[in-house]
Amino acid sequence: MNFKTLKMIDVLGKKIKVVFRDMTQDNVCGHYVYDKNLIEINNKLNKETQEVTLLHEIIHAVFFRSGILNTKVSADAEEVICDQVAKVIQENFKLVKK
Ligand SMILES: [Zn+2]
Repeated sequence: MNFKTLKMIDVLGKKIKVVFRDMTQDNVCGHYVYDKNLIEINNKLNKETQEVTLLHEIIHAVFFRSGILNTKVSADAEEVICDQVAKVIQENFKLVKK
């Protein structure tokens, strides 16, 4: 996957738009806006950080799309799961062409 050319991702039957833009003003690595089916990634970060952030936001989308959120998983637990699963994927699968 050349993730920088990614414009759209399919998460459990929903197309989610992926936008890479300068988010320095927002002071975030990225975010998932569930009511807009949108993931935005700060393109000012290094490739590896953008990649792990994209994975993190995709996992947020899985939480929302799968209904896991309705099981009352705490926001803290969700963040830990998103971070750790994203890390494991990044560590074990080559996603970025170096
Ligand atoms: Zn998060």
